[in-house]
Amino acid sequence: MNAFTCDVCGQLLFFDNSSCLQCGSVLGFETATMRLLALTPDGEVLRPSDGGTASYRHCGNRLAARCNWLVPADDPSALCGSCRLTTVRPNDSEADAMAAFADAESAKRRLIYQLGDLGLPISGLDEDPVNGVAFEFLSSRGRDVTTGHENGVITLDLSESDDAHREFVRLQLGEAYRTVLGHLRHEIGHYYWPILVEGQGRTERFRQLFGDERVPYQAELERHYAAGPSSDWAMTHVSQYATMHPWEDWAETFAHYLHIRSGIQSADSFGLRVDDPSVAAGHKAGSDTSHLSIGPLIDAWLALTIAMNAMSRSIGEGDLYPFVLPPRVVEKLDFVHGLL
Ligand SMILES: [Zn+2]
Ligand SMILES: [Zn+2]
Ligand SMILES: [Zn+2]
Repeated sequence: MNAFTCDVCGQLLFFDNSSCLQCGSVLGFETATMRLLALTPDGEVLRPSDGGTASYRHCGNRLAARCNWLVPADDPSALCGSCRLTTVRPNDSEADAMAAFADAESAKRRLIYQLGDLGLPISGLDEDPVNGVAFEFLSSRGRDVTTGHENGVITLDLSESDDAHREFVRLQLGEAYRTVLGHLRHEIGHYYWPILVEGQGRTERFRQLFGDERVPYQAELERHYAAGPSSDWAMTHVSQYATMHPWEDWAETFAHYLHIRSGIQSADSFGLRVDDPSVAAGHKAGSDTSHLSIGPLIDAWLALTIAMNAMSRSIGEGDLYPFVLPPRVVEKLDFVHGLL
């Protein structure tokens, strides 16, 4: 994620900010330019404080989803480009679910921002019934909701926004990492599989790296929950869940790729670098990435994460980045990198 600065006073701003803490300017995220604009009210509309002539409205989900994105003033939609992708949301009267909905939308804006930044813009299922996407955010309290992806519809159980619940599930499943943004990055990976892999004629290479996705899903799911992953899973997969089925391996790897790209972007925007290449080399378990196009990115990332983990431990927390990237996983990440 990039850091931003206030057009009026130069103050450092963050992606979620809706006003500048220094000069009080109203802020809004403009999707066409991917900038956080300082705005001046002008009658019914908002205009850029830097003198631009464009005019905007706040997204209609400004309160319900704490959305700070803008809608062009002449756009008939009440909602911004991110919020309008959500087709199912809790009832306004469900206070807990609405708080969780706002958290989920906040994570989703990070996802949509990154997809645009990587040249992977998406449209809604209403605009594009074949390749569009829709998000359904619902709480599983009192009803059956399963997080997943099917035919362009991404469902998120809003209970995942509840920190205590998510930590309980994380421990039950023995996971190193579980976040709402991670869920969304995983599910969007499923959505992109036919577009990026099949659509670019890369299925053969996919099967060499991830396995044959035609193995029956239900049987693999039952095997996974009955027997668990093999003892050496960490040599071949980025997570235990990735061992379940080639599709899950793909989605976990795709999500991890997005984590890395976002983390690297954040580091770059704050001028963070760990220059000593031996730091990364010592933690690659003999992995030589020099023949891969993702090599420099992985080297920079590993060096950064080792430093981040050391910082996290020095304030008494656990590892901020609880993953290792063995050569087989790096090869899969390189495949994703090549597709993009
Ligand atoms: Zn300011
Ligand atoms: Zn919005
Ligand atoms: Zn999945």
